[in-house]
Amino acid sequence: MGKMDGVKPISGTYKPPVKPKLLDKNGLRLDGRKADELRPLKIEAHVLNRADGSAYLEWGKNKVLVGVYGPREVHPRHLAKSEKGIVQCRYNMAAFSVSDRKRPGPDRRSQEISKVASEAFEHVVFTERFPRTTVDIYIEVLEANAGTRCAGITAASVALVDAGIPMKDMVVSCASGKIENTMVLDLGKEEDNFGQADVPMAIIPSTGDIVLLQMDGELSKDELAQAIEMNIGACKRIYEIQRDALKRRYSVGKEQEEEEAEEERKKEERKDGEGKDRDGGAREPGPDQSAKGDDWGDGEKPAPFDEDVGEFKENKGGESDG
Ligand code: UDP
Repeated sequence: MGKMDGVKPISGTYKPPVKPKLLDKNGLRLDGRKADELRPLKIEAHVLNRADGSAYLEWGKNKVLVGVYGPREVHPRHLAKSEKGIVQCRYNMAAFSVSDRKRPGPDRRSQEISKVASEAFEHVVFTERFPRTTVDIYIEVLEANAGTRCAGITAASVALVDAGIPMKDMVVSCASGKIENTMVLDLGKEEDNFGQADVPMAIIPSTGDIVLLQMDGELSKDELAQAIEMNIGACKRIYEIQRDALKRRYSVGKEQEEEEAEEERKKEERKDGEGKDRDGGAREPGPDQSAKGDDWGDGEKPAPFDEDVGEFKENKGGESDG
């Protein structure tokens, strides 16, 4: 074999990663966050054209894309249930989502996350309304930096609503844990790697039901209670961000509808005007150009769904129903 120019030889002994100091003297974390602070989170609904529903999320350095299909025929067929539908979630971490090599395809971890996420969503989707069918949720982690199951579940909820799947409510997910003997919210990668415990959780905000609770590491009973409390508080904030993503998506839809209706009205008026001209009648004044601006000033634009969560449950739900 010839010499491989430019290829660095593997030499020396393996050095394990050194644990960084996770909290500074002011109690701030590696990325400058306080103990109860979330990483920046943004969500966008309906980012894919082919899927029935979709969402894209960035949470700290995590990037997650979700596509939802259904209710549709179950494959393989033997998984179908005659009395209700099923929810199948597939979590996948892209091979390029982490800096170390990630073997492409499913592994034990992704199967576990897919299973717990499917079970979480079965608590909110009205599966009894569409027997023998499936709702398929594809969570694709494009970049991972700890907390990807929570990010995936949170984004998937928005994608489910976008697909018009009839649901009791959205599922919201967040993790907290313990680093340097301190309880903190929403662990980052180093905190996850070198911390003492991690507690991912998912809730249904309107009922307070916990639909996912896992723990990695060791915590006292009190610390676990504290982690749960922190997660619930954070989920309420995240829920607002999910709802905002949907409001943004559906306000645009509403605006387009209004514009089309306005266009239609103008056409009708033009037709009427032409008719009158031919008859020698006086032309009606044209539509007030300022009307649109007046009626649809940003501040006055009606929200697609107000405070009542029930309103988005029904969104497109009827279409998918049955
Ligand atoms: N991770 C990785 N390679 C893997 C699995 C995980 O680098 O094969 C990283 C990734 O950044 C992930 C983090 O480890 O977000 C924590 O993984 P964990 O199993 O705790 O799940 P998560 O916190 O992402 O839900």
